Amino acid sequence: MLPLANAARGRRMSPAITITDVQVILTQPVHSRLVIVKVFTSEPGLYGLGCATFTQRVFAVQAAVERHLKPFLIGRDVDRIEEIWQMSMVNGYWRNGPVLNNAISGVDQALWDIKGKRAGMPVYQLLGGKSREAAAVYGHAEGRDRQEVTENAQRLVDEGYRHVRIQMGGYGGAAPAVHQPENAPAGNYFDPRAYGPTMLAMIDHVRHQLDDRVELLHDVHERLHPIDAVQFAKDVEQYRLFFLEDLLAPEGIGWFSKVRGQSATPLAMGELFNNPHEWRSLVTEQLIDFIRMHISQIGGLTPARNAAIFADVFGVRTAWHGPGDTSPIGHAANLHLDIWAPNFGIQEWYRPSELEYEMFPGLPRVKDGYLYPNDRPGLGIDIDEKLAADYPCEEIIEQWTQTRLPDGSSARP
Ligand code: MG
Repeated sequence: MLPLANAARGRRMSPAITITDVQVILTQPVHSRLVIVKVFTSEPGLYGLGCATFTQRVFAVQAAVERHLKPFLIGRDVDRIEEIWQMSMVNGYWRNGPVLNNAISGVDQALWDIKGKRAGMPVYQLLGGKSREAAAVYGHAEGRDRQEVTENAQRLVDEGYRHVRIQMGGYGGAAPAVHQPENAPAGNYFDPRAYGPTMLAMIDHVRHQLDDRVELLHDVHERLHPIDAVQFAKDVEQYRLFFLEDLLAPEGIGWFSKVRGQSATPLAMGELFNNPHEWRSLVTEQLIDFIRMHISQIGGLTPARNAAIFADVFGVRTAWHGPGDTSPIGHAANLHLDIWAPNFGIQEWYRPSELEYEMFPGLPRVKDGYLYPNDRPGLGIDIDEKLAADYPCEEIIEQWTQTRLPDGSSARP
């Protein structure tokens, strides 16, 4: 018998490495509450980490992992990532919701981490290897007025960023005055009709102050009425944005064909998406230019890999969601996809604190506007659980999502 066949037979006969425990780590090192899943295996010392961060509902995700997924997963073969993902998705029968998708993501990313550690390779190698050495990132420049936005954007440019997202007055903008009725309840008010003109003036100002080579991005955060969104995309076209983000709510995707028909402004969409029903037609009809889902929200690395390949067929690039409410583990997962994907576009980057670098050894760093992976096996990132325990999650009620239109009625945040 050939030695090769012997080796193959030997591998088949070795017992599977199985899942022995699944734990949830909750921590809040800075502003956002983070959910990390740790999968333990039958091989001593071998574990994986995954991001399950749905920051507004951390305790629901924790319960979904500990009470529902863990009993289902104990004893399963860690090598069977695809099967575990598919079966986890349908085991509860009802599917495609954010809590369970995040829970599944925590396990899915941890299994990719484990597979990489077993192979002695970074996860980008398992996906197909490098398309690039580093991922171009964009940073956030915000301000109360356009001058402050410009100064903060210039600061990022001075640090080497060549892509900057510019926002003024928080999401919804700084409306000059919101005309409310008497006895209007407290909350975050914004005026969607004022948004367009105010933001256009800001973008015009910043565009003329910064070097022409700096790429500008802007996030509408689904704040506009659909027809005003169509108008805004037309008006902003002259500034040649790198992209305009979340111009419409997920519920308003039918309007993208109207936007597309009237402007060449590049469009990025999708941080609120949960499942392929939501992005499929936008991609196949080539109505957007960048998909930017929150990877844990769609169920982890496995569906994100599939979405990237699907988008590539239609000439759509990736721009995965990457703010502070993606955990450092999730940011590492984003980067592995970025390094591999032929159709990578840009990566959102949140500029972590030194505390987060201490808590999450291996968290990648940006140099001159590029985010570099390390070459450690798996996701290449760990967590200092003792330090994480010093920063427990607060029990809070989200305020910024309690958003109102001028007449006091509820609006999408
Ligand atoms: Mg956004």
